[in-house]
Amino acid sequence: MEYEAVIGLETHVQLKTRAKMWCGCANEYGADPNTNVCPVCLGLPGSLPVPNEEALKLTALAGMLLNCEIPARAKFDRKNYFYPDAAKDYQISQFALPSNIGGKVEFEFEGGIANVQLNRAHLEEDVGKSSHFAKVSGVDFNRAGVPLLEIVTEPDITSADMAYEYLNALKDILMHGGVSDCDMEKGQVRCDVNVSVRPVGSKELGGKIEIKNMNTFSGARKALEHEIERQIEVVRNGGTIPQSTRRWDDVAEITEEMRSKEDAHDYRYFPCPDLMPLEPGTDWLADVRARVTELPLTRKQRFIRDYKLPAGDAEVFKNDAPLGNYFEVIATKSKNPKAVANWVINNLRAKLTESGESLTDLKFQPDAILELIDLVESGKISSKIAQDAFGEMYSSGKAPGAIVTEKGWVQESDTGALEAWCDEVIAANPGPADDFRNGKGAAINFLKGQVMKLSRGKANPAMVGQLLEKKLTP
Ligand code: ADP
Ligand code: MG
Ligand code: ZN
Repeated sequence: MEYEAVIGLETHVQLKTRAKMWCGCANEYGADPNTNVCPVCLGLPGSLPVPNEEALKLTALAGMLLNCEIPARAKFDRKNYFYPDAAKDYQISQFALPSNIGGKVEFEFEGGIANVQLNRAHLEEDVGKSSHFAKVSGVDFNRAGVPLLEIVTEPDITSADMAYEYLNALKDILMHGGVSDCDMEKGQVRCDVNVSVRPVGSKELGGKIEIKNMNTFSGARKALEHEIERQIEVVRNGGTIPQSTRRWDDVAEITEEMRSKEDAHDYRYFPCPDLMPLEPGTDWLADVRARVTELPLTRKQRFIRDYKLPAGDAEVFKNDAPLGNYFEVIATKSKNPKAVANWVINNLRAKLTESGESLTDLKFQPDAILELIDLVESGKISSKIAQDAFGEMYSSGKAPGAIVTEKGWVQESDTGALEAWCDEVIAANPGPADDFRNGKGAAINFLKGQVMKLSRGKANPAMVGQLLEKKLTP
């Protein structure tokens, strides 16, 4: 019997706010333990939460980017559990009426476009972080009360690789959309993976295993690969998979049982009496909608379609949105968007990487790239000289036309001057010249190179080729 995997992911993404969800404490990474805390996020008796409006807006923005339905009414619930990292003994989350319902994430996968349906994307608060030392354990509450968006998929994912691509796509959307910085190193994206196996063709879901708190995508992929294999092995041998929570051991590369799975009723969810329901109005939603930007995949597809870019170039602009915006400002004015892409990717991006500068530091105007392309296309300068002109324009901010004139870099297309260089080179290289005369066509490339060298790159290469050929053909 053949088995297939069924996977659903619950991903927690930290929202990009200055303050925490219910208090004014900084939403800041790396501070000394328990320095960003107050009575509210420590859950002291008598303290009351006040919602952070920016977190609510980012939640709605995420809903729009992920194609969710944003219901007219949402509310907060208490998820009750007793654990040292939850100072209040409950976590504020959304259970019955989440802020975003449904939705989808589309991404490139195995040569096509995969579509993972979402169940919901709700808002909840983070809890503290426990650390265990030799004799003591401690809890750092700096993270307690930090706003998180939890994005829950339907069990639509069919392989570890697909889960990995989904996670990357989700991260791209939320990061480019300004919802989260999605900084993995700072633990801003964490996911719980749920996985079961079933005989191929079966419509029923098998018992699922949940692996909690994966903080790298490659870790999630590896854990899934192992867990799928393990489950198939168990059912092949006639066993069953009891629903449970397992832990991924990164070093041993195995999953191990943590506890049998808790159900929703174990959390005794009930509406949080301290918080009003959310009823986003039309104007408020319109404000949020004004912040919606193009999805990365949509941009890539549009660049391929509208600017006839190869997929590789479009992928660069998908992953680097500011660079893509910069490209587009120039490309809309150019008859040759591919040439614009070449300059932006091969020259500009390389310089920026090398110097550690960003687009806002540029000394030249975007139109200078158009001028540079014109100089090459009209034959005024060779593409080799254009590289030098770009370097000069990058460091001084001068216009390429002015640079080329000033430096005497204008391409030599005057036949008299070109003939003189060709004659000199033929005289100095009788061997290769004879080779060409005797039918070795490739010898002309060497001679051409010599003329270019002699002219310090200024000779018009196409004309040099023609002249040499004429001179060497009896
Ligand atoms: P729980 O209440 O245990 O968290 P949910 O029904 O809320 O379970 O689902 C949590 C995640 O697990 C969702 O992403 C869902 O798609 C996925 N899931 C549910 N059932 C299965 C299953 N049998 N196999 C794999 N994934 C599943
Ligand atoms: Mg769960
Ligand atoms: Zn606080």
